[in-house]
Amino acid sequence: MTGKVSIVGAGPGDPELLTVKALRRIESADVIMYDRLVNKEIVGLARQGAILVYCGKKPGAHTMSQDEINNTMITYALAGQHVVRLKGGDPFVFGRGGEEVLELGAYGIPYEIVPGITSAIGAAASAAIPLTHRGYAASFACVTGSRCHGDQSPVRWDLLAHSVDTLVVYMGVSELNSICMELIHHGKNPMTPVALIEKGTTKNERTFVGTLADIHKLAKAAELTNPALIIIGEVVRVREQLLAVERKAISLIG
Ligand code: SAH
Repeated sequence: MTGKVSIVGAGPGDPELLTVKALRRIESADVIMYDRLVNKEIVGLARQGAILVYCGKKPGAHTMSQDEINNTMITYALAGQHVVRLKGGDPFVFGRGGEEVLELGAYGIPYEIVPGITSAIGAAASAAIPLTHRGYAASFACVTGSRCHGDQSPVRWDLLAHSVDTLVVYMGVSELNSICMELIHHGKNPMTPVALIEKGTTKNERTFVGTLADIHKLAKAAELTNPALIIIGEVVRVREQLLAVERKAISLIG
């Protein structure tokens, strides 16, 4: 009997942001194949005796190639195991979930997708930045900032600069300066506020706020590291208002 593969989103970091469905799959899986961005506490929820396979990829240093990951997943499933393929955030948002499903399809292996909270949503909430806010932003887009993925379609910064209110850039830290320059070049106001959220929703979360013109200097001074998101847009200004509410609530309680 062929097993099954559940491609599961583990959320942005905080284990409490797992969905109930994700938790159930993790607790019952025979094999858990997990990525680098998955919190180890979440992997620790596996049942005793489950096989744990680390598939982590550090930028530039591959532990398992995508082919090896696919082959391992297929081998276990064909042997009748229930495999949980555990990914940071959501499997369909820059998570290669679709590619893995296509590989499974070639072998007729049943699969399911369990969505997760993508880091844009998780980190924005945690950093008190609403991605849409009346009077500030009526749209947002999630964009990749990485150009080293052999992607055939480059990001259309020229269009994004004008057509979307809030931009959330994944995998953009190493390209931060050129992304900001590109947006300014295409007519975005250099004073547009920008937030950087490092390790969003985890205990080590850090947030920095600047503008398109100066945020790269802040990132350098703070020695910003991955994973981190870039949020660009007027909504970043709302953060101070929300934090003021939080401070007021604390002072009233205190
Ligand atoms: N599938 C994932 C994205 C994987 S791409 C999701 O839905 O979130 C990896 C990128 O996600 C990182 O380079 C970073 O930009 C972002 N990221 C993932 N977790 C993050 C976190 N906790 N805080 C900030 N950014 C994060």
